[in-house]
Amino acid sequence: MTQKRIGILTSGGDSPGMNAAIRAIVLAAHQFDFQCIGFISGYNGLIEQDYQILTPQDVQHIIHRGGTILKSARCPQMCTVTGLNQAVSSLIKLKIDTLIVIGGDGSFNGLLAIKQNWQGQVIGLPGTIDNDLDGTDFTIGYSTAINTAIEAIDKIRDTADAFDRVFVIELMGRHSGHIAFNVGIATGAEQIISFENFSPEQAQEKIIQIVNDIAKQHQQGKSSYHIVLAENLWPGGPQALSEQLKSMVDIDTGLCVLGHIQRGGSPVAKDRILATRLGVASVHAANRGETDIMLGELKSEIVSVPLSEAIMHQKKVEENLVAAQEDILALSAQYRKRIP
Ligand code: ATP
Repeated sequence: MTQKRIGILTSGGDSPGMNAAIRAIVLAAHQFDFQCIGFISGYNGLIEQDYQILTPQDVQHIIHRGGTILKSARCPQMCTVTGLNQAVSSLIKLKIDTLIVIGGDGSFNGLLAIKQNWQGQVIGLPGTIDNDLDGTDFTIGYSTAINTAIEAIDKIRDTADAFDRVFVIELMGRHSGHIAFNVGIATGAEQIISFENFSPEQAQEKIIQIVNDIAKQHQQGKSSYHIVLAENLWPGGPQALSEQLKSMVDIDTGLCVLGHIQRGGSPVAKDRILATRLGVASVHAANRGETDIMLGELKSEIVSVPLSEAIMHQKKVEENLVAAQEDILALSAQYRKRIP
């Protein structure tokens, strides 16, 4: 059997389950007698040759930990010719046969840039809370992120009900609405403002609609009113939205920017299992000599898609989910009453 050297790095925003993926790669590689090298802090570690050999002992008891033992980072040098050349030189010098990158679309762009200048194999594993990659139903970390957000918003609901408050809650997702839309649905938000159902030009119209809806709710009997907002969307940000509402309705309006809490924490079962399946599959793909691919899971099957296709389009929130939300909202608005 040829002994391969597999390089692993985690890049871009960290996501819960990255450790589970690293563990799976290292353990599966050990079965093939492949050696694993982990680069520290994303592409920075590759450029600077900051790495550690990873053995099965090194990945014990990390499956339940959020973050990444290899650390993650943005690495602007990768977008320069010098940085890219340094990354490629490191791969050659360290005799790496296969580079496995766990990250999002930006990280995969880096992987494709490397591939244009290097003979080895490149494999991507979808690791991002944003769930915006084509070629996989779910990305590693997304399920944990939405569960974390749901748990937090349920708590906000309790206190918001106690004071009949309006709350604006901003969720992560960069430029994708998977988190906002799905969390909004799962928490029964009165409004979801996300990329799928809103564009910034509609801000004034939206505010008026919300104010009218709150007034109607008050006629039916007061209770809390939740507005789940996707980040990077409302003109002036979530503060502007909450200030505008405060000035228009005589109701206490709270603001919660959930932020990085969504990226941390112990991965839920779904992320641990997905990461483990994809990690093992990546080593098998490396053994078969496959390259330029991302491994994902579609309809419970592990699939391999060309890296270029995975990043060509941002995966959209399904239209029927958006429509279902509108139907449910309309229906639930008819039957509102004060929550005791
Ligand atoms: P997330 O969306 O979860 O934050 P991501 O992988 O999309 O993850 P980015 O910050 O977009 O995160 O990209 C991570 C890193 O990938 C960048 O810091 C850079 O090192 C590398 N990268 C991104 N785009 C390119 C590119 N066009 N060429 C080379 N490298 C790139």
